[in-house]
Amino acid sequence: MAGQARGKVKVDVNECKGCGLCVESCPPKCLELAPELSQYGVHPARYTGHDCTGCGICFYCCPEPGAITVYRLAAPPKPAVTMQGGEHAPAL
Ligand code: SF4
Ligand code: SF4
Repeated sequence: MAGQARGKVKVDVNECKGCGLCVESCPPKCLELAPELSQYGVHPARYTGHDCTGCGICFYCCPEPGAITVYRLAAPPKPAVTMQGGEHAPAL
């Protein structure tokens, strides 16, 4: 799914047990299991590098505390509202 990334995810390969729950639960499918084995002999999850929305679902699905950290990117500032000449707030 293409789109502006609103978040990013970091997986600690030393905490991940390769269960794949985060991969299955991620709505935009931006997680995958790495083909390499970790030192524990499992395929750890990893971020594909794009499309994370920062929703946090992977974090809540993961059974291993500390394996996933989700970062939400700050939203761009909204444009300032300007009043043009002759406009006034309506009388109540
Ligand atoms: S925060 Fe949401 S979009 Fe990002 S990797 Fe986790 S489940 Fe996927
Ligand atoms: S849910 Fe957690 S333990 Fe399972 S693969 Fe994802 S990061 Fe690893």
